[in-house]
Amino acid sequence: MRGKLVVGNWKMNGGLAANARLLARLVAGSADARRALAVCVPFPYLAQAQAALTGSRIAWGAQDASPHASGAYTGDVAAPMLVDFACRYAIVGHSERRAGHGESDALVGDKARAVLAAGLTPIACVGETLAERDAGATEAVVLRQLDAVLAAVGADGGRMVYAYEPVWAIGTGRTATPEQAQAVHACIRARLGKSGAQDATVLYGGSVKAGNAAALFAMPDIDGGLVGGASLDADEFLAIAHA
Ligand code: PEP
Repeated sequence: MRGKLVVGNWKMNGGLAANARLLARLVAGSADARRALAVCVPFPYLAQAQAALTGSRIAWGAQDASPHASGAYTGDVAAPMLVDFACRYAIVGHSERRAGHGESDALVGDKARAVLAAGLTPIACVGETLAERDAGATEAVVLRQLDAVLAAVGADGGRMVYAYEPVWAIGTGRTATPEQAQAVHACIRARLGKSGAQDATVLYGGSVKAGNAAALFAMPDIDGGLVGGASLDADEFLAIAHA
């Protein structure tokens, strides 16, 4: 269901002691949050997130999931395992996995389907590189990635969260302007509408900070944010959550 949501993506950061401090500050500062909140933490810290966040306003999740439910896939983590830690979300298709692990559109779709089958909500990321944007291919790339997910999940497209994350804005400090982001979100929303998933939540991600969140979140088709670097700073993440 469409709703206001801010999700932190810790990426491959953290440690038990630092996490404990960050999670405690997030819990303390989130009681009056106007948006739903979540953090997606590295797999080894799921139990810690579950212990710290149970009973709070903040949900938790993982940053990836295998397309397979179990079996001989050394190093992978299956979506049903995430259920054991009461995860609500799993990110699929983050650009760092598409680029660094060669994840194809089809694989991302398979992962989204596996996450749904386990009863969790996939956060499916789509977004163009700078070269693709400069070539005028933004819409084509984003819709190609989106269509692969929609084809894989069929009628469950409305049970997902989507994140538009222009690759050139991730971790670079360079954010899409609210108008640039809105233009792509409108296009995503239209495609979701055609497939019966118009009520899905669509987040923007890419160097979201306290200083730019309000303008981005004010756009009609932006429902919130997927926040990387800034989610490691409690004050910054909470300021974004309240934006
Ligand atoms: C991300 O990792 O999904 C992300 C958007 O990162 P950052 O906010 O650091 O650009």
